[in-house]
Amino acid sequence: MQGEIVLVTGGAGYIGSHTVVELFNAGYTPVIIDDFRNSQPWVIDRIAKITKVAPIFHAIDCQDQTAVFEMVKNYKNALGLIHFAADKAVGESVQKPVQYYQNNIGSLCTVLNALKEFGINNLVFSSSCTVYGETDTPVVTEQSPVKKATSPYGDTKITCEKLIQFNAEALQYFGATLLRYFNPIGAHPSGLIGELPQGVPNNLMPYITQTAKGIREKLTVFGDDYNTKDGTNIRDYIHVVDLAKAHVKALQYLDDSAEKKCSIFNLGTGKGTSVLELIIAFENINQLKLNYEIGPRRIGDVAQIYANAEKAKEALDWACEFTLEDALKHSWNWEKGI
Ligand code: UDP
Repeated sequence: MQGEIVLVTGGAGYIGSHTVVELFNAGYTPVIIDDFRNSQPWVIDRIAKITKVAPIFHAIDCQDQTAVFEMVKNYKNALGLIHFAADKAVGESVQKPVQYYQNNIGSLCTVLNALKEFGINNLVFSSSCTVYGETDTPVVTEQSPVKKATSPYGDTKITCEKLIQFNAEALQYFGATLLRYFNPIGAHPSGLIGELPQGVPNNLMPYITQTAKGIREKLTVFGDDYNTKDGTNIRDYIHVVDLAKAHVKALQYLDDSAEKKCSIFNLGTGKGTSVLELIIAFENINQLKLNYEIGPRRIGDVAQIYANAEKAKEALDWACEFTLEDALKHSWNWEKGI
């Protein structure tokens, strides 16, 4: 139904903000819930610039049950909730495990309680291919085993997935989709929203763009002695706008499903790209040279992983529309503007 309300926790973040834009584009009314601990308030204005509508937002910490209940009770008729709000840095999670369990699991508990209390029955959850851990094969389907987590961050994703599955089993009217992202890159084609890493980036893409801009002196490629085509790690890089659109489709899928249950979807392109291939493609599309060197392996990196995303394609009627080159162009365009 046009104009239906969709609550979006973490809606000012990287994937959240792009999803808010796509919800508007699809005719929904997103309501952002974000305490800006890992995002910027001006992102809200940027969303308004793109969509020509000022989004409603609530500056609330999702761990604050009183505040969340006070807010959600005003949106009892919401179609559903998309839950992005979480801490997401693997390295930081090793340093601050309590914070990660408290925030990621605590926030989800609060959200699930609020949804139950106010009769909101559809949840889209932001998960990660990190749940597959050390994979047995480079390509993973939703049936591939969930392996023991190698970081507190990874374990919170596994635990949150389990909690949602149990909740869906316990409440017959509650449905959820668990979206396992591969490597989101790119930015909105307008250049108005994109990734805003705090401090030194952990992820490859922002490290590349910051090096190209001169913020970082040099990119280090973490190992070129893996058993892959050029020795560097292989990942599945997906444009953030394609990823955002999948959330809208996942919500529509829940809304259309007669039987409420919990479904899992891989969200990737299905194509593996090595670190060196990504660097070369970035240089070519943006007509520049990147300062990089080969360094030692990073602890915990799997050699290669990419998605079998056929289930999402079929069930959600979703497919990636942007190319890798589009994503690399949009990432650079965004970096130049910030
Ligand atoms: N990587 C790299 N240099 C960096 C950051 C990342 O070579 O400064 C590599 C990393 O080893 C991995 C790939 O880039 O193979 C993607 O890493 P990222 O942290 O972006 O995502 P991950 O797949 O680890 O979640």
